[in-house]
Order: sequence, then C-alpha cells, then structure tokens
Amino acid sequence: MRKVYLDHSATTPVRREVAEKMWTYLTDKWGNPSSIHGVGREAKKGIEKAREKIAALLGAEAREIVFTGGGTEADNHAIIGTAAALGGRKGRHIITSSIEHHAVLDTCEYLEKDGFEVTYLPVTREGVVRIEDLKSALRKDTILVSIMHANNEVGTIQPVEDIGRICKERGILFHIDAVQSFGKIPVDVQDLNVDLLSISAHKIYGPKGIGCLYIRRGVKIDNFAHGGAQERGRRPGTENVAGIVGFAKAAELAVAEMETEAARQEKLRDKLIKGLQERLEDVELNGHPGHLRLCNNVNMSFKYVEGESLLLSLDMSGVAASSGSACSSGSLDPSHVLTAMGLPLEYALGSVRMTLGRDNTEEDVDYVLDVLPDIVKRLRNMSPFYKTQAMV
Ligand code: PLP
Repeated sequence: MRKVYLDHSATTPVRREVAEKMWTYLTDKWGNPSSIHGVGREAKKGIEKAREKIAALLGAEAREIVFTGGGTEADNHAIIGTAAALGGRKGRHIITSSIEHHAVLDTCEYLEKDGFEVTYLPVTREGVVRIEDLKSALRKDTILVSIMHANNEVGTIQPVEDIGRICKERGILFHIDAVQSFGKIPVDVQDLNVDLLSISAHKIYGPKGIGCLYIRRGVKIDNFAHGGAQERGRRPGTENVAGIVGFAKAAELAVAEMETEAARQEKLRDKLIKGLQERLEDVELNGHPGHLRLCNNVNMSFKYVEGESLLLSLDMSGVAASSGSACSSGSLDPSHVLTAMGLPLEYALGSVRMTLGRDNTEEDVDYVLDVLPDIVKRLRNMSPFYKTQAMV
C-alpha cells in the first residue's frame, strides 16, 4: 500500500542536513553556552551564528531574536509579555481574530480573566479579516493587535501589511503568528510593519520544541520566565543548543527553496482540489480559492460524511490527513475556524485538511484522487441523512 503523508501543517520530518547539523552540537560541541571555557564558547558560537542567520532571513537584527520552546511559547510570550508591560499604564484592550490558533486564543482568554478586554474580529466566508472591522475595533486603550499571517486550518493569508501600517500609525503594538507562513511566503519584519513575530522550527523540517520570537528593539515586554541571564534574561534556562542550530539550518533551507517549492506544491494543491471537485458532488473548498491561500493547503468539506470517519478510512488506505488543527483532533466539535467562517454545521463536521510538503509527488495526488472519492461514496451510503436526501 502506498503511504502518503498529507499533514505537513501539523508537523514535518527533520531534514537530513538539519539532523547532521544538530548531531555535531549533540556530540562534538556539547558544552553549556554559559560556561566561559572553550567547550562552552563553542556552543555559544553556534547559538549566536544561528541567531544572526534567522535575523537576516527575517530582516531583523540578531539581538531582536529570542529563542523559545516553539510557536506556542512565542505566542504566549508576545501577548502576556506586552500585556504585563503595558497593561497597567497604557490600557487593557487587545484585538485578535476569531480564527487564531489556540496558542493565541487561549492566551487572550487567560488575560480576560485578569481584567483585560479582548475583541475577537470576525472573518469573511473565505476566512479573511476585514480592515474596516479592525479599524472600528481600535480604541484609545488598545495595547496590542495579534493576527496570524496564515491560518493553520484553511491556509488563508491575512492582510498583515495593511494591519501593520494601521497599528504603526496609531502607535499600537502588532504581533504576527507566522508559524504557518514562514518558509512558504516572504516574511520580512520591516515590510510587514510588525513589532513581534512568532515562528516554529518543526513546521519547516526542523526539530520540535524550538522556535523564536522576534521583538523589535525598544518594544516594552516582560520576560517570559525568571532565573538566568540566557537570551538577555528574556527566556532564561540553559539553551537547547542543538535545537537552535537545527532551527537555523532548517530556516535557511526553507527560504532558499521557497519559490520553487511553493510553485511546485501549488500545482499539486490545485490538481487535488480540482480532481476532488470533479469526482464528487456536495463538496466545498474551505478558505480562499485564489492568491490568498497557502501553496500547500487543501481543506475540503464533504457533506453527509463525518470527518473523523473519513480520516480513519484514509489512514487505513495509507493517507495521513487531519481534521482542523492537530491540537483539537479527537474532539467532535466543529472547528472554531470553520464555524467563524460561517460554514453550515453539516459541512463543518465533514471537513478534512490535507497539507502538502516537499516529499509529495504527483503520484501521491493521483493515489489520493483514486482512494478518497470511493471512501466518501462508501461513507455516504452508510449515512441515513444522505439516503433521505437522495430519495427526495
Ligand atoms: N501557531 C500556529 C498558527 C500553528 O499552526 C501552531 C502549530 O500547529 C502553533 C502556533 C504552535 O506551534 P508549536 O507547535 O511550535 O508550539
């Protein structure tokens, strides 16, 4: 049986070049970067080189990069850190969108319990935040706007340049969760007018549990934790040296190959979408149908089918996909993203996300086009709703 992995927005395998780089820092250069001796200095050098590399890829300065334990931690640090630094003085209002990752949504909800007010902006049917909605939500006491660059479930790309410009004009901090966009579309902190930006290594063929937060020089933000001078005190604790050097290598490769890889995946994505639309009725493409869609994202709903059953059947046929975000799978609630986009429940419950990666080929897409329609037809034939509908 063919094995097709189509869950690259959940995670990606570590590339050989990345693993080799990490191996050096796990074996030969294993020192504690805080030690003053040569063994420690060697590890420290690796971290600082990695910091410079990542900063250059983002159009930032090296000292504006803080290594974190991944995307979730970077999002938490950006939001809680600025709320703690500015909350008492400047205001207690935060704006985000209703389709953010839970790393942002749950953090905002946590702050609400602490007396902050949060506006959750609605989105269009295609999953895009409207600039007019943002403008009318802005208040005198707004301290932070946090909007994701690209959505992890439906791949919609947000108008972050415009949002950044508006925030800059009004002196409001702007945070972007770029976990899904980095390595797929250009991410430059100057072009995007951004003050804070989160990235995670495991979405770009790097290791899990490492990422970074870009913090523009001069931004007032509290430290994430307390207990040491590492990361200039912002994120104390002995550094994940191998993770950091692996992250930088993965980032370098992702950006170098971005253009060709995005064009290649886009073709596969469109073939898969078109193929499924041609082979099945009552199918809905979720997210933006055109240029505001990530190159690797296919999110489709199959009416009269239950998404989890479809995933299990796909898995038995060797195809790894997901329903909504990986973090919330296992729950039968419709995805908060699809609900916010106004998708009817019968479609929202039958949704599947298939996200392509650098190892996927045209043969993989042909295989999915071969097996998926039959699975949908079989499941529909078992559904009492489908039969009732068919007889009317
Ligand atoms: N933000 C987005 C948009 C994501 O898709 C994810 C992971 O799925 C995260 C944040 C969390 O990143 P991490 O898994 O590195 O904590």
